[in-house]
Amino acid sequence: MIEIGKNHIKNNNTIGFIPTMGALHKGHLSLIQKARKENDVVIVSIFINPKQFDNKQDLKKYPHDIKRDKALIGAGADYLLTPTNNEMYPSGFQTSIGVGDHTHDLEGKYRPGHFEGMATVVCKLLSICKPTRAYLGLKDYQQYIIVSQMVKDLHINTKIVGCPTIRETSGLALSSRNMRLSAQDKDYAAHIYQTLFAASVRINNGEMHPQRVEEYVTNNLKKIPTTKVEYVATRSLSLKKMKKINQDIIILVALSVGSVRLIDNIIVPFQKNRRSLIHLDNIV
Ligand code: AMP
Repeated sequence: MIEIGKNHIKNNNTIGFIPTMGALHKGHLSLIQKARKENDVVIVSIFINPKQFDNKQDLKKYPHDIKRDKALIGAGADYLLTPTNNEMYPSGFQTSIGVGDHTHDLEGKYRPGHFEGMATVVCKLLSICKPTRAYLGLKDYQQYIIVSQMVKDLHINTKIVGCPTIRETSGLALSSRNMRLSAQDKDYAAHIYQTLFAASVRINNGEMHPQRVEEYVTNNLKKIPTTKVEYVATRSLSLKKMKKINQDIIILVALSVGSVRLIDNIIVPFQKNRRSLIHLDNIV
């Protein structure tokens, strides 16, 4: 592994960094393009981090194709960092980063140890690359919040930049895991974003109760064949629970479609002049 950092990069150039697990798609490429526009030097890492897989089968099935990834990155990045497991976790490795309340919340609840593994590897990669900015997708919103908190708490001198989710025209969020969906399940999975979008319309029409939003989304996701819903949560943008929707919010979901576990979310900006929603089921 080459150690890339400010020592290697001349003239105080700014460094943009994109940590990935490979099997690159247009979502990853959008982060690389943004980093390219905003920095002098761009570093991409590909490392399938065993410590963030709570499920060993999931790790085994995780797609990888380094040749294709290298071709896709093309001229977009100046450096590609592909450390081995041994380089990242040599024998005797001891340290890990805790993520506080996130340990048992949302993804943390359903994937024990996932965020500790993710935060530890991201912390190591930031130490190696010493980037000015690191680019993370808002598709993994809780991950973005955790990494933002980590750099603040640990005085890591990197700005975390959250980037919008890139979707297929059907609305399905691009994900390396989509490769494992059958054609039929891919069509079913498109309903995830359609449901989130419909929920955002209800909020814009005056729905104020997080619980009613969650019920609406859950009921609609359950109607999609082959799915198993893990959680549906309506939260503030700092992932706090709310009694009433009176600010910008995010609806987060995790579910499996067939045997593939997917996550998605939608951010719904608060609009002051929302029309009041007429609840037909309240009319007697
Ligand atoms: P991964 O390789 O899945 O660990 O993802 C690497 C980075 O790409 C993370 O910051 C993800 O949030 C981001 N990412 C994954 N999918 C998308 C997408 N559809 N749109 C934008 N960013 C994404």
